[in-house]
Amino acid sequence: MKKIGIIGRPNVGKSTLFNRLAGQRIAIVDDMAGVTRDRIEFTAEWLGRRFRVVDTAGYDLKEEIVKKEMQRQFMYSLEEADFFILMVDGREGVHPLDEIVCGLLREGGKSFVVAVNKIDSSSAENLAYDFFSMGIDKVFPISATHGRNVDDLMDEIISRLPEDEEEESFSYDGRIKLIVTGRPNVGKSSMINRWLGEERLIVTDIPGTTRDAVDTLFEYGDEKYVLIDTAGIRKKSVMFKDRIEKYGYYRWEDALSRADIAVCLIDGAEGLNERDVKVIADAWEAGRPIILVVNKWDAVENKDQAAKEMRADIDFKLQFLSNPPVIFASAMSGKNVYKIFEAAKGLYKEYTKRVGTGEANRVLQTALDRHQPPVVKGRRLKLYFMTQVAACPPQFVIFANYPDSVHFSYQRFVINIIREFFGFEGIPIKLFLRQRG
Ligand code: GDP
Ligand code: GDP
Repeated sequence: MKKIGIIGRPNVGKSTLFNRLAGQRIAIVDDMAGVTRDRIEFTAEWLGRRFRVVDTAGYDLKEEIVKKEMQRQFMYSLEEADFFILMVDGREGVHPLDEIVCGLLREGGKSFVVAVNKIDSSSAENLAYDFFSMGIDKVFPISATHGRNVDDLMDEIISRLPEDEEEESFSYDGRIKLIVTGRPNVGKSSMINRWLGEERLIVTDIPGTTRDAVDTLFEYGDEKYVLIDTAGIRKKSVMFKDRIEKYGYYRWEDALSRADIAVCLIDGAEGLNERDVKVIADAWEAGRPIILVVNKWDAVENKDQAAKEMRADIDFKLQFLSNPPVIFASAMSGKNVYKIFEAAKGLYKEYTKRVGTGEANRVLQTALDRHQPPVVKGRRLKLYFMTQVAACPPQFVIFANYPDSVHFSYQRFVINIIREFFGFEGIPIKLFLRQRG
């Protein structure tokens, strides 16, 4: 896949554009200029073409770029990408650094476009024309915050982006995709390093992307797995942390959507707090079954009593998880760290399970026999039939005459009966209602 880099002085709006390309998600943009950053990247799609957007510390232009030595380093950092967006601040006008870098890109024979940012309305567009003084043929007045003209910019880039060579191909099919999550300091990196550092786990390099691989493929026992988005966690450095926080939520959501199962770590010594509950609830809402790992168990005294209390706390605060696997482990000592994969295997089976429409209907019938849905506005609510429309996570649809009138409590009642019949233990079940006759 080809890579696009966004270059510009601090505060011109690079991260804002980056986030926008990341899929119009809400992400955190800080106002602090010049934060030291490592590199971060993600895959995006435009007009059916997939590409990666890279952001590295080297693209955040500083005054030092006037020095020859820094220019050499900068040129070197351009090897990271195939195409560049030189972003400038339309409100500030042409800055000497913009000119220097524009010259460097041209002399280096790099493909690039100049995006003049912060042009929030058409009346401000004339501000963009100043940049023709840099000796370029075209400028793109955009507004990264409002998305103005960003589509034109992307159309242009896609039309000029060199063809992809043969795609590196490796298969995720049949692999259980895990994401390790939890609030900061619960031991996520320690856990991953523990797994990957030991020989019981056979790690496969992803061809072509090893240097910045975000996923790790491995085998344990007779099962194959992928650890999703390990880069942020594995390469944890102080520098990288700022960036992770900045893009944190977007990355997390994205990673979560690619995973099958969320391995949620809790600090056993500190207990379950509100932040833990929030992370776990978000992962569950996103449709991911959860394995609860009570980590740092080595540091807990009076373990029997503590385990009882932890279980009670889980039952109380995380009742919605419907019987998740709970593993008391220690990334530090290695205790029980492989049990997590066994639990994942069990959950995955439930997560991918499909039930036939005949069976699903019998469950609906049972629900109706036990408990008729109430009369709404003098009309009897009819539930005609139920079918599982998808797995991973399991999704059921019930066809009804007045779908909007099926109360939440009745839906929950049906979900409980689905669980009673089919298990789906620890699996989030989605139920939808559709109109029918
Ligand atoms: P970076 O340092 O280049 O990554 O810049 P940021 O993306 O962090 O943006 C710096 C500041 O400019 C933030 O306060 C943004 O809200 C603001 N900004 C970014 N894009 C636009 C834009 O299109 N219009 C306006 N008015 N402000 C913007
Ligand atoms: P992350 O922020 O979730 O990735 O957490 P880290 O892996 O960086 O761990 C945070 C702190 O907890 C570090 O000081 C680790 O050494 C410590 N830690 C991690 N796992 C364990 C464990 O199993 N037992 C103990 N006692 N400390 C741990």
